[in-house]
Parts: sequence; structure tokens; C-alpha cells
Amino acid sequence: MTLPTQARAVVIGGGIVGCSVAYHLARLGWRDTVLVERGKLTCGSTFHAAGLIGQLRSNANITRMLTDSAALYGRLESETGQATGWRMSGSLRLACTPERMIEIKRLATTARSFGLDMHMIGRDEILKLWPGLSVADVLGAVYGPSDGQVNPSDVTMALAKGARMAGARIIEDCPATGIRLAQGRVAAVETAQGTIACEVAVNCAGLWARDLGALIGVNVPLAPVKHQYFITEKIPGLPRELPVMRDPDHLLYYKEDVGGLAVGGFERNPKPWLVDEAPKDFQFSLFDADWDHFQPLMEAALARVPALETAGIRTMIHGPDSFTPDGNCLLGESPEVPGFFLGAGFNAFGIVSGGGAGKALAEWIVAGEPPMDLWPVDIRRFGAPHRDLARVRARALEHYGKHYTVAWPLEEHESARPRLVSPLYGRLKAANAVFGEKMGWERANWFAPEGAEAVDRYSFVRPNWIDAVAAEHRAAREAAALFDMSSFSKFEVAGRDAEKALSWIAAGDVAKPPGRVTYTQFLNAKGGIEADVTVARLAADRYYIVSGTGQRTRDFHWLARHIPAGLDARVADVTEDMCVLALMGPKSRAILTAVNDADMSNAAFPFMTWQDLPIAGVRVLGIRVTYVGELGWELHVPKAHAERVFDALLAAGRGHGLKLAGYRAIDTLRLEKGYRAWGADINADYNPFEAGLAWAVKLKGGTPFLGGEALLAAKGKPLTKSFTCFAVDNPNVTLWGRETILCDGQVVGWLASAGFGHTVDHGIGYGYVRNPKGVDETFLGSGRYELEVAGERVPCRRLARPPYDPEGRRVRG
Ligand SMILES: Cc1cc2nc3c(=O)[nH]c(=O)nc-3n(C[C@H](O)[C@H](O)[C@H](O)COP(=O)(O)OP(=O)(O)OC[C@H]3O[C@@H](n4cnc5c(N)ncnc54)[C@H](O)[C@@H]3O)c2cc1C
Repeated sequence: MTLPTQARAVVIGGGIVGCSVAYHLARLGWRDTVLVERGKLTCGSTFHAAGLIGQLRSNANITRMLTDSAALYGRLESETGQATGWRMSGSLRLACTPERMIEIKRLATTARSFGLDMHMIGRDEILKLWPGLSVADVLGAVYGPSDGQVNPSDVTMALAKGARMAGARIIEDCPATGIRLAQGRVAAVETAQGTIACEVAVNCAGLWARDLGALIGVNVPLAPVKHQYFITEKIPGLPRELPVMRDPDHLLYYKEDVGGLAVGGFERNPKPWLVDEAPKDFQFSLFDADWDHFQPLMEAALARVPALETAGIRTMIHGPDSFTPDGNCLLGESPEVPGFFLGAGFNAFGIVSGGGAGKALAEWIVAGEPPMDLWPVDIRRFGAPHRDLARVRARALEHYGKHYTVAWPLEEHESARPRLVSPLYGRLKAANAVFGEKMGWERANWFAPEGAEAVDRYSFVRPNWIDAVAAEHRAAREAAALFDMSSFSKFEVAGRDAEKALSWIAAGDVAKPPGRVTYTQFLNAKGGIEADVTVARLAADRYYIVSGTGQRTRDFHWLARHIPAGLDARVADVTEDMCVLALMGPKSRAILTAVNDADMSNAAFPFMTWQDLPIAGVRVLGIRVTYVGELGWELHVPKAHAERVFDALLAAGRGHGLKLAGYRAIDTLRLEKGYRAWGADINADYNPFEAGLAWAVKLKGGTPFLGGEALLAAKGKPLTKSFTCFAVDNPNVTLWGRETILCDGQVVGWLASAGFGHTVDHGIGYGYVRNPKGVDETFLGSGRYELEVAGERVPCRRLARPPYDPEGRRVRG
């Protein structure tokens, strides 16, 4: 086929993901789509995949993406005439320890929350589904009847055929060699056969995606890791209809394969493919079998499936796949170059993800925004700390090694740390801080009391930090607590038209005089919440914006791309210039009064204002806001002087019961107060009405803003989902999130975030109650609510308002 000179979209890479993107783009009407593949279709990681299809993930929308895959694979053969090998054989996940039992029960509950059928079964049922299995050590399993398996190459060929049928062109033996930009955005893809002018380039180059992105300065944080599974000869008597089976306590998976078994595993000590650039001629290629490395897995497999003892080994498949620093794939438009999209880094999930990820990405490209909140896989969750290949590799290996370990609530990464530390790191460490990591930053999660070990001991029931966090929580409520929140993302928007620009981007009213502070959301055109920030007006032409640690790339990108053309306004990332010390609690005023001469009274320094405060000889930007629901100030201190201010505050706080506190206390405090966490409680799927944040929106006054028209259209119409608070009084129930919400026995949603309120002394959960016919106060107030927690139904109370200080009296001091 001759190379076209022009196309709307050029998809680079003919693995399952690229073919799926081309298929969906063409079917969405972008028939003018060209896919270029360096070698032949499937020649990268796709041809050697095992083909297990398991749909459940810890996020509802990512689960939906995978159920989209399964649905597509189920109909693709009839649509295209090309077989896919799809079999809805079901899946089993075994549990051999009490902790794993809790985990799989929680998985079954999560599945129920997300509308996927998965249920617990015992040994007898396991044996009915998989006769001959050795189950003496098995405590139970979760069974997902709608999971299954495919033949990865066949599915990819079917997607390619479907793409061609819808008008896309697929050109093999055609490596992309460069991306041409015009005015900073994609203008053309250069290939060995010529140049194709295009609006959009989609990087689906598998483990070569990193090198391709680097050509135009786009960071694609992935690293290749080796993975192997073996396939046996036919095993006499083996049923054809075996469910795929995962035995995570022994790091193994199994799948029926042409009358034999395919058996693979995720070692705790994976091997990276140590290449700076993946070789271009690695096509339909595999590594030599590494039996020594596989040996411990083999022993465990023989113990689980005795029939393997006598089965002949047909082959060992040993290939690379690309892994990312958090185990999720990379989707979306690159923040660096408009028009350059990514669909890469599939962490041994590329086959199950391919169909749905290609659909989501194609919809994203066509609409210019994702079809639903896809934050867990959005490329913008990474940033500068993820440019370093050595760190990406270390984290990718950690993820691979933990593929089948128990996923504990609030589990932290161990590798590639520390990366970014605040100047107070040493002081916090000396005070027994137990750190976590977010977006490269070390952050104190909690402080171990003297004599206690300063390390996380995870548990589904009672992790070791609970008492320490409770003490920090109480200090904030009853005296004062000091939090190092330096990892906050911070931006400045400056220029003659800064007010105009920000008034368009922010849903709240930021056109206030200098000195004032606004809590606001940034909305997309549909009214969905893209960001949740605090804005301090520093001067007529300058704003200071504070946002969550993890949203640094995302929010910068959002601001930069939405400043209307022609306005004199620029955004700068000043995150690493300033440290933030949050001094919170009823004694915060007394402490601050002791270290500076300013009048800190309500009259002189009201809530939601800022002032310059000289503390210990340092000019500090004091912002009177709170995320914990108490009188308090965020002190933004130039980095060079942070230690001085910190020491002065600690010294002044000594007589006032001041305590150092960490992020786990912040979470229990904000849950009591009902403050939303962006990502968990609010995101692009929810508008301010649904999220209970309409009060923060400038609906009156006529100033146009992004998302405003959608909100006006939605105003007054019945809500179909509403953010709701629940209390659980049973002290033996621990909530972590994703528990199912039941109203009169019917599933109406799941908990978006949850924890324990140490002041109100009960469990707290927030989630959206859903009802297509409308969710108003009467509906919410009339039902009998329960939560399903790890398979058990637990009574709960629906609270019309957050449990702690709903009038905000404490905040106003
Ligand atoms: C042993 C093993 C078993 C696995 N089993 C499973 C499983 O059971 N289930 C599952 O879901 N996943 C599984 N996976 C993972 C799965 O194989 C991958 O995640 C998936 O194939 C990735 O697909 P892709 O399209 O992103 O990449 P690839 O299939 O690697 O496709 C990328 C393509 O881009 C092409 N390309 C690269 N650079 C260029 C360029 N410059 N110009 C043009 N073309 C280019 C390459 O030639 C390649 O064909 C397994 C992986 C391994 C290693």
C-alpha cells in the first residue's frame, strides 16, 4: 500500500493497543486514520502474551475500560469474521492466608460496587470448576464468571481487520522515524517511507514508546521488564472449559491452552531488560528460557496442579513488556506537545486493556477530552521526577515484584526514594516521622511516639499507626498541630490580564481585591471538576494558586492550555520555591502571636485572607485557610528559610501542646469536616451540584467561565448522583473505600473515601448515591442504608451534613 501524504490521525505501532485505537478512531468517523507499524502487526509484546482477561481493578472507570474490552472481544469475531479465541471461561483467584481472604472478599465487594459479578466460593466449588487441583492449603476463592481468555494475536488481527473495514489504513514495514511540529504542536509523522501530515499522532509503540516520545521531548515513563510463562503439551483428561486461575500467594497464574496449560508467574525479584533503548530489530523475538529464575514458581505450580508432574513442556515464552512507576498504563495527550497522544506502558495488562483503552483513547482524541475520569491512567499523573530512567526502572521493578503480593490499604512504594525532600526532612525524620511518597515528594505520614518503631505495619483491620494518628488528630482539634505540606503544587498566574484569565478558568469568583483568598474548582466544558484549588490574590496582576501534590503536572497543563488566547497572563510553577507549614488548631493564634507582632484577631486577619507575616526575621506568606476544619494558617515560606520558621513555631508551641502531625491525620481530620479530596471524592465525572460544591461557584453575576454553560443547563434539573456522608458506629468495622452502599437492599454506589473520625468516634465514608430517576433530599432521607464491607453487610447512618462542625464555627475562630 502506498503511503498517504496526509491523514487526520497517525497511529504509531501495530500491537493490540495501536490496532484498537485505529479501529475505534475509524468507527468514530475518523476514517482518515493511518496506522504505521515498524515490522508486522503483533511483532512487539502482543504476539507472545498469554491472553488472560480479568476485568476488575480498584477504580470503577478503569474496570469499565476492561469490561469494554471483554464486551468487544466477545463480538469482534461476528463483526469481522476473524476469530479471536475469546472464551468466557471465568476466573478464579485463590486465597491461602487469612489476609488474602480479606483481600479477595474486599475484591468481591469492590466488584459488586462496580456492577461486576464476582463472588466467594469454597473448596468444593473450586474443585468443581477445576477438578484435580490440590486445595489443602486454600481457604477460599473469588470467582468471576464473566472473565475469560483470548488469543492475543487473533484479537489484534480482528481489530486491524475491523479498522480497515471502517476505513483506516494499516501500513506495515514502515517505522516512524520522527514527529514534525509546527507552532509547538504535532504537524506530521515522518516514516521510512515518507511523511504523513496529520493533526494527531498516537504513540502506541509499546516498549519503544519512551524512545519515540524522547524525539520531541515527551516523557514516557516506562521500562521494559522480562516476564515468562510455559506451555505444556496436551494433558490427558484436562477439561477444556477451565477458568483462568490466579494463585497470588504462590505468585502464579494458569490458563487452559490447546488441551494443555499455560503457567506463568510474577517473581518477587524480577529482571529488567537493561537497555537504554529497546533494540529496533526485536521483532517476533523472545529471550532464552530462564529456568533457574522460574524454578521456585515451578515448584509451587507442581504442588498446586499435580497433573503438571507428568506433563511435557512444549515451550517457555520469555518476553518483555513495559512497566510504569505505578503499575497503570499511560493514556492521554502528552502535557509537553499538543496533538501527541499516548497509549503505552501496559504492565502485563495490555491484552485485557487493549480493547477498552483503545476505545477510551480514541474517544479522548475525537472529543478533545476523556470520555470519563481516567486519572489513574492519565499521563499527567507523572512529572519531572519521572524523567529519570533509573528511577522509573526501580519503581517499575517494585511494581512487577508486588504484582501478586497483598495490596494493603495505604501501602507506600519503597523504591526510588527519597527524590524530593523539603528542607525540614531531617528535622521530621529526627522526630520519628514515617514518610510516604507522592509525585516524588517525601511526606511525613505520621510520627511514631518515642519507643515505637517508625515504620508502617500494614493491616486491613488495625495498622500500627492508628493510635499515633489519633493523637495527632486530637492535637489539631484540641491544641495545635504543625504539618509540613511543602509538597503542595504551587503556581503563579501573572500578567495584566491575570484576573480575566483566571476568572474564565475558575468556577469561583477570583475577581476579589488583593489580600483575598478563594476556594474554587476548575471545570471542563461539561461542568466536570478538573481541579480543586485555593487562589490567593497577591496583587492586581498576580495570583498564587495552591493545589494537591499529585496534580502538579495536570493543573499546570490545565492552566497553561486554558488561558484564553490574546490575554496577557502567564503561568509559572513555583512548587519547589516555597515550603508550606500548616499550623492548625485552636491554639494556632496564640502560637503565631508569640512569633510575630501582627494582629492575628478575626477582625484584623479574617478567614480566607492572606498577609505578609514576619516570623523569625523571615517574610512569610500567611494564608488563613484550613483543610482540617480548625482555626489555622498555612505559612508559605521561601525554601531557604523554612528551618528557621519551623524552629520558631515549635519553640513557641511548646507551652501550647503543639504536636507535629502528618498526612494520615490530615485525612481523618478532613473526613470529619467533609472536605473533598480531588481524585477520590471529586473529579471530572462529577459537577459541583453533584459534589455539593455549588456554593463555591459564581453562578450569579454573569461572568462567563469554563463549564458555566453546562452548569446553567444542569441547574434545577434532578441530580442522578449526590455526594453523601455515612457514619458507621460499629468499632470493629474498618472502612478503607470502595465499600458498596446499599439503600433498602439495592446497590446505589460505593464509598469514594473513608476512614475513622477520632473526634466524633465513628467510621466515616463518603460516596455518591445514584438513582437514574433523581436523588434529592427526600430520596436520600427516606432509605435504610447499609454498607457492604469485605462481603459483610453493616448498618450505617446517612448524615445530612458532615459530622464535625458543619457550621464552620471552629474554622472562623
Ligand atoms: C510473557 C508475557 C505474557 C503476557 N500475558 C498477558 C496476558 O495474559 N494478558 C494481558 O492482558 N497482557 C499480557 N501481557 C502483556 C501484553 O503482551 C502487552 O501489555 C501488550 O501486548 C502491549 O501491547 P502494545 O500494543 O502496547 O505493545 P506492542 O505489542 O509491543 O506493540 C507496539 C508496536 O509498536 C511498534 N513500533 C515501535 N516503534 C515503532 C515505530 N517507531 N514506528 C512504527 N512502529 C513502531 C512495534 O514494532 C510493536 O509492534 C504479557 C506480556 C508478556 C511479556
